[in-house]
Amino acid sequence: MLNENMLPMAYLLAIILFILALGGLSHQETARRGNWYGIIGMAIALVATVLWKVTDHYVELGAALALGGVVGLMAARRVQMTQMPELVAILHSLVGLAAVAVGYANFMGHGGDYAGALKTIHDIETYVGVLIGAVTFSGSVIAFGKLSGRIGGKPLTLPARHWLNLGLLLGAIWFGIAFVQQSAAGAGDFPGLMPLVAMTVIALLFGIHMVMAIGGADMPVVVSMLNSYSGWAASAIGFMLGNDLLIVTGALVGSSGAILSYIMCRAMNRKFLAVIAGGFGTGGGTVAAGGGEDQGEVVPIEAAETAALLEDAKEVMIIPGYGMAVAQAQHVVQEITRKLRDKGVNVRFGIHPVAGRMPGHMNVLLAEAKVPYDIVFEMEEINDDFPEVDVSVVIGANDIVNPSALEEPNSPIAGMPVLECWKGKTTIVLKRSMATGYAGVQNPLFFKENTRMLFGDAKETLEAVNQAL
Ligand code: NDP
Repeated sequence: MLNENMLPMAYLLAIILFILALGGLSHQETARRGNWYGIIGMAIALVATVLWKVTDHYVELGAALALGGVVGLMAARRVQMTQMPELVAILHSLVGLAAVAVGYANFMGHGGDYAGALKTIHDIETYVGVLIGAVTFSGSVIAFGKLSGRIGGKPLTLPARHWLNLGLLLGAIWFGIAFVQQSAAGAGDFPGLMPLVAMTVIALLFGIHMVMAIGGADMPVVVSMLNSYSGWAASAIGFMLGNDLLIVTGALVGSSGAILSYIMCRAMNRKFLAVIAGGFGTGGGTVAAGGGEDQGEVVPIEAAETAALLEDAKEVMIIPGYGMAVAQAQHVVQEITRKLRDKGVNVRFGIHPVAGRMPGHMNVLLAEAKVPYDIVFEMEEINDDFPEVDVSVVIGANDIVNPSALEEPNSPIAGMPVLECWKGKTTIVLKRSMATGYAGVQNPLFFKENTRMLFGDAKETLEAVNQAL
């Protein structure tokens, strides 16, 4: 009943499901359905590959699937919501590593299967696959280190770093030519191995240098860029293995990651090439030197007073940030929103594109807490409305509401559009201390006349506000 011709049919079905998955994931209302399309597509792809493509080594294949499945399951169960960005980064690194491994296996195992122009094409596929894979691998490992706080957020700005990058690129091209020539000449055991290894080292160094040079504030672009690279790495594996499904799926991930990088760059008002060249942003998460001395005094507020202000308001804007994810405060936020709406207060949410630590981070948390989608707005939809807002509640957000992005040309976040909540009547900022956000810069918002600071863990303070309501 099973025959080889069914493989392309199954792959085509999986590809269609992946496209539907991407379409579904672009709206909150359809995201759940999109996820299911993706899961079913991946299940079909796996079963079809196991049944029709791999014929001989079922024991090894079963062991690898079981091992990968167990590790994946354990990671998924153990990882906290706040660790998702670093998990994503390390998963990208695995795709890169797989591309390198497949490239080498392909090079060592099938060199003699091709001749003439076909061999040259195959060699170039292998070389480019290993190159993209190695950059993705080392870049993602460094991104993992930065996102998890194991490596500082300060950009590494080596002297003459652009020349260094150019040198690495020229080196990779030079070794590429040597690789194809040596492979074509065919002398020795593995002709072309030396240039391939040399390029792998260069690509690994390039990946490390590229991500090390990018400062904290620009990490969102790096996350989406590595997402794109991992797609191209998968596509490269597809070319090496002659697997159409991997080529198309990799291209889907690669191009959607590239579009996301473009959206992130636009959101942060950065040029993509300038981000890659590095040097923006400073260290992250430190207490700002000098605290409030040079900026004036901050005015604290208590939970009961916050509740009273909220009850008296007509227009409330909630601005969630990374701290809401850390505190896991989204459920109590939903409770407060429901109570205020019941009292006739117009509550809306303003979402900055880089809020949190991964694209869509806040939307995921709010959807989990069942906050209605129709009151959740993108920054550009509501940024002009702040003059009419009575109370803005900033929950564990910092960089995304920092006026210095607009006012200080030398700030590491200069030029990034921010939610201009200070233009409203009152802003209440919930955070634990005067520490800076991810970009490591002090926030003049906290010292403004119409700002009140509600200090403490966001979940605890909001629970007190909820009680008072
Ligand atoms: P920030 O990192 O700027 O600020 C978060 C604030 O939350 C901190 O100042 C912290 O202050 C506070 N906080 C932390 N824990 C708690 C808690 N339990 N309760 C209350 N407050 C808490 O986050 P934003 O969302 O404003 O900005 C995102 C930043 O992350 C941007 O710089 C962005 O570039 C970067 N980034 C974004 C990525 C993305 O894809 N979205 C990826 C990588 C980086 P305190 O310690 O005083 O409580």
